[in-house]
Amino acid sequence: MLRPSFEEFQAQRADFVSQEEKRALGADIVLTEDELKVNEFLMKLKNAELEVGLKTPFEFVPARHLFHVLDKIKNCPLFKLLQKMPKGAILHAHDTAIGSMETIIKATYQDFLWQHGDFDRASPPLYKFSKTQPASIDDTEWRPVADIRKELGDEGYDHNLRTIFTLFNKDPVAAYPSINTIWSKFADMFCSLEPIVTYKPVWEKYFLNTLEELYWDNVSYLEFRGVLPPVYDLDGRVYTAEEIVQIYYDISENFKKTHPDFIGVKFIYAPHRIVNDEVFDGYLEIAENLHKKFPTFVAGFDLVGQEDLGRPLSDYSERLLKMTPSIQFFFHAGETNWWGKTDENLVDAILLGTKRIGHGFAAIKHPRVLEEIKKRNICIELNPLSNQVLKLVDDCRNHVGAFYFSDSYPVVVSSDDPAFWCASPLTHDFYIAFLGLSSARQDLRLLKKLALNSIEYSAMSRAEKVEAKHKWNIAWNSFIDRTMQSL
Ligand SMILES: [Zn+2]
Repeated sequence: MLRPSFEEFQAQRADFVSQEEKRALGADIVLTEDELKVNEFLMKLKNAELEVGLKTPFEFVPARHLFHVLDKIKNCPLFKLLQKMPKGAILHAHDTAIGSMETIIKATYQDFLWQHGDFDRASPPLYKFSKTQPASIDDTEWRPVADIRKELGDEGYDHNLRTIFTLFNKDPVAAYPSINTIWSKFADMFCSLEPIVTYKPVWEKYFLNTLEELYWDNVSYLEFRGVLPPVYDLDGRVYTAEEIVQIYYDISENFKKTHPDFIGVKFIYAPHRIVNDEVFDGYLEIAENLHKKFPTFVAGFDLVGQEDLGRPLSDYSERLLKMTPSIQFFFHAGETNWWGKTDENLVDAILLGTKRIGHGFAAIKHPRVLEEIKKRNICIELNPLSNQVLKLVDDCRNHVGAFYFSDSYPVVVSSDDPAFWCASPLTHDFYIAFLGLSSARQDLRLLKKLALNSIEYSAMSRAEKVEAKHKWNIAWNSFIDRTMQSL
């Protein structure tokens, strides 16, 4: 074979790199003159962090565990810019883990809250709102939280609560030696948290606060998953699934009225995957009823819980295939590091006709899955920080999303359970995705594409998407103007 001349080689190389760039996510976006100026500023900030990282890898935030760099991120100019950017929608997050846990801490100052067990035991205390002392479940009595507060002082009590309602740990590697240990703490948190957050006044307040925090983080649309736990009040009333969804709906509609530039909310019913067939049939019945009662607000169905330990989708496929065809699926699938095991949920999710895939972390090991994702235009909901905290990846530069970004896979960036790891509703994940998952060459076009994708791949109708894009465009142009003025 003849070697090319140096000139030929250089031309080939330029063409090669250009072909790769053209395949990357966001390459089809054409920036306006103003956007190009903002892009220059954005890339200055990105390159500054990349340069420091190249020289001193320890300083590169996406390469380190989130818990070690939370303060550093907060003060970073790139993070601050991304926080102001209208990011579109969150399409993958769970209802009781988006808004800050401070709302829950404040709720524990309310009357009629009881505690079972102390903070220093292996499993965290249990809580319940009740007018009278709840019946004892062992030889330990329930005590009024107000009394324990007096003993520990507000500061001491709140400190204890904060350690329960977070996965944050100064030494996450020692605290969580395996994926199962962190998922087990995750489950404990939900157990402790649930009876506080499901007390109706707290439930309403927490959800409203979640929307406020999204809005503040420049996220204007939410499609969230929820298990619909039993919401209750002091009179002993337990609300039905339909009543709980009605609460979500009413709060969302009111929020839209008071925040006209906010696009809206939809709900995905997502009960737990580790149940027997009888319980599962009950879930399907609830899903069918919700679909009839809230045909537009309830977007569809999913299952939650650790895939490695849960039942695979194939166990349920026969039943799922019988569901009303207009109920859409949004399955978590491939949230695992295993290959040839529970990652095969990806195959079932696709064959069951899922509209989007939650995580899709293992899809890279399945060439047929990858082909179908592109062919059927199934959106992968990436949650980089969740995957790091829940131990699928250490250094976010090795996150599989980098591959999806490199070849324009249909993806969005979401946040899963950001409040559990002290992150903002979406900006932390955007920051890590832009700095750690994307190529040094990817710029504002990628960010704009991700925001547009979050509207395009939502469960909104065509007409809703037109209105959503209109609202997002106004916010985006205003962001570009304001950034220009600050340069
Ligand atoms: Zn999830």
